[in-house]
Amino acid sequence: MNLSSNELRHLLTTSDPAAIDALTAEARHVRDEVYGRRVFMRGLIEITNHCRNNCLYCGIRRDAHCRRYRLTPEQILDCCRIGHALGFRTFVLQGGEDAWFTDEVLCTLIRDIKRQYPDCAVTLSLGERGRDSFARLRDAGADRYLLRHETADRTHYGLLHPAEMSFDHRMQCLRDLRDLGFQVGAGFMVGSPHQTVDTLLEDLAFISDFRPEMVGIGPFIPADGTPFEHERAGSVELTLRLLAIIRLLHPHVLLPATTALGTLHPTGRERAVEAGANVVMPNLSPQDTRALYAIYNNKLSTGSEAAESLADLRLRMQAIGYEVPVDRGDFA
Ligand code: SAH
Repeated sequence: MNLSSNELRHLLTTSDPAAIDALTAEARHVRDEVYGRRVFMRGLIEITNHCRNNCLYCGIRRDAHCRRYRLTPEQILDCCRIGHALGFRTFVLQGGEDAWFTDEVLCTLIRDIKRQYPDCAVTLSLGERGRDSFARLRDAGADRYLLRHETADRTHYGLLHPAEMSFDHRMQCLRDLRDLGFQVGAGFMVGSPHQTVDTLLEDLAFISDFRPEMVGIGPFIPADGTPFEHERAGSVELTLRLLAIIRLLHPHVLLPATTALGTLHPTGRERAVEAGANVVMPNLSPQDTRALYAIYNNKLSTGSEAAESLADLRLRMQAIGYEVPVDRGDFA
């Protein structure tokens, strides 16, 4: 659907509950037309919290005094084994930018996962790398790559990241990933410090133009020990509204109901599905490392967002009229 920038501005700022209800109902309808009442699941494996970057918002930034860990390839394969038995057909390997995970280590791991679970998709979310590195990971069999653009506004990007990080490089990574044949995920935090309606309009314009196969958005949540620890969290309502708008702008997009939403609101993920989301990403990381991957405060890790509680998640989704199939959940 084409929405003018004035229409988008109105949808982002209106306080008319009828307008918001109409927006989410339309987003639900559009999602149902493309994907049906199906919510795809991905098993999230947080492979390392070591990171060479120093993003101002992130609880595992280089300067954060958090306890560091990394999973071994054996531990990661174990997570996949448990996940496959639970019915996961996509594994998302996410982590900080950790030089220990060289191309060689990752390619061996990707090949092992694909050999053992040929019916599964492998998604990587390991930050920025060079084009050659992305090409090797793709050749080894990785299917998808999540790299949120964080903000499409260059000035805003500079306020969220240290000077050594580059807006252009992040955007270049997204284009390289696309060229190399990955299904690409972009996205941003809602309510990050210095975000405005205008920067959000730029995010929406970027999404309409680049058309990533996936868009991950969730509220910003302050993380202790970061420069933004005393900033306010983003709004659940605005996040839901943005999910609905993104569904209308890009009907085929895969749109996760993120853990950050579930963290701020007990039924945040159900409400996201009712606003057009169609993906959930339960946590498959080993129990004892989940708390250490603390990108923000109070991140959920033991309730229905945990992979062991799949039955609970399925019931929650069924209760609002959705099934959670055993399926890779590819872009349609
Ligand atoms: N190193 C990878 C993965 C980062 S974690 C990368 O650079 O892509 C995944 C996402 O979590 C980030 O892209 C960011 O949008 C989000 N995130 C980080 N800190 C957050 C916070 N304090 N609140 C909410 N989301 C956060």
